[in-house]
Amino acid sequence: MSGATETFYSVIRRQGITRRSFHKFCSLTASSFGLGPLAASRIANALETKPRMPVIWLHGLECTCCSESFIRSAHPLIKDVLLSMISLDYDDMIMAAAGHQAEAILEEARLRYKGRYVLAVEGNPPLNEGGMFCIDGGKPFVERLRWMAESSMAVIAWGTCASWGCVQAAKPNPTGAVPIDKVITDKPIVKVPGCPPIAEVMTGLVTFITTFGRLPELDRQGRPKMFYSERIHDKCYRRSHFDAGQFVEAWDDECARKGYCLYKMGCKGPTTYNACSALRWNGGVSFPIQSGHGCFGCSEDGFWDKGSFYDRLTTIQQFGIEKNADQIGMAAAGAVGLTVAAHAAITAVKRLTHKPDRAVRKDKPT
Ligand code: SF4
Ligand code: SF4
Repeated sequence: MSGATETFYSVIRRQGITRRSFHKFCSLTASSFGLGPLAASRIANALETKPRMPVIWLHGLECTCCSESFIRSAHPLIKDVLLSMISLDYDDMIMAAAGHQAEAILEEARLRYKGRYVLAVEGNPPLNEGGMFCIDGGKPFVERLRWMAESSMAVIAWGTCASWGCVQAAKPNPTGAVPIDKVITDKPIVKVPGCPPIAEVMTGLVTFITTFGRLPELDRQGRPKMFYSERIHDKCYRRSHFDAGQFVEAWDDECARKGYCLYKMGCKGPTTYNACSALRWNGGVSFPIQSGHGCFGCSEDGFWDKGSFYDRLTTIQQFGIEKNADQIGMAAAGAVGLTVAAHAAITAVKRLTHKPDRAVRKDKPT
């Protein structure tokens, strides 16, 4: 792991990446931020001239899927970016050093980059029994987390574990696992939820911080707006089927084979804020809904405790019995789930008043 004095550009050039590829990466990154061509040159300039951002990466109670996502990005250039953009000064998961040597590296990095490093946290701290359910370097992880956060510039909460608690914090939560913002209260924290987060979202965030020297604009839950401002449902390629009232009714039925909407199979896309349907996974190849399974809302707070992944989001009393779409629309003002119910109901009403699609089973009250 090299230091934080080199620029990103000098590192990738040494690795044989062409200047043309570098500029292509900057353009793609600017467009993923929703910014224009001028931003691409600003990103290029920053990556050519600014020293790389020192990052210290800690692991608490977790399964390591965030690291898996981070290092297994399918896009070759992105992979190079991931390993070159930051000066990853400490990550006990992938570094060669271990034991006392690793401890010495951590302390040295903390002192050398005091007030300048980003603390990236994967997993979360369990608080019960004095934090003894997660021991790191002979001490409760929660102590290390507080100690390292103290001298950091900002904190990244990777994944749903660090952001919301995830399965470790699901009821009855025997270890007392908590999201990291319950123990770090005096530093800016950017949450990147998802189980795991999408590699390109992680890269995008790192690129933004490196380029602009600050955290991106966050929503009221602390997530970067540029990646979490839309629902899976908003960009889902099955959305036209939702709008047409065409739903899968059972796994592997005719409608499933036709790729109809998975709403009735419990898809949580209408209430889940993430970029899966826009960026997709594995270099844009696919995402869960494309493989035939509904979204279960892995990037939402408390998703483990919200009932079965296969429960419908709402009870749609209107199916097949409502006659006035305007009434449904008025009743829908307010909660997202209710909006979805009304939307589905309106499309169902439309279907009842038009020639039915023979491929779709007749709706019945749910
Ligand atoms: S309910 Fe799910 S499958 Fe249907 S359009 Fe919305 S996100 Fe896509
Ligand atoms: S589609 Fe839903 S469940 Fe799947 S990874 Fe994205 S947010 Fe998580």
